[in-house]
Amino acid sequence: MSEETPPSKEYRCPACGHVIYSRRRKKCEVCELPYPPEFLLTPEELEALENEQREIHARRERDKTKEEEERKKRDAASSNASFMLMG
Ligand SMILES: [Zn+2]
Repeated sequence: MSEETPPSKEYRCPACGHVIYSRRRKKCEVCELPYPPEFLLTPEELEALENEQREIHARRERDKTKEEEERKKRDAASSNASFMLMG
């Protein structure tokens, strides 16, 4: 059996209890209390996060280009098909 471990710890502002969605922020967006240091990302974590996001972005761009090509191919194929049907 696997132990129940939540995927990520939920951070809450100690002052107002507002859920901290982005640990890249330095203070609470509600009460503006500066987050305690353990809430903040270490430079390593921050870098890892940025790398990850760059990768996701790059992958998305690639997918978009691929999708575009696929669509063009499909469009060409379908216009050929309808041309043939009409002819
Ligand atoms: Zn707060």
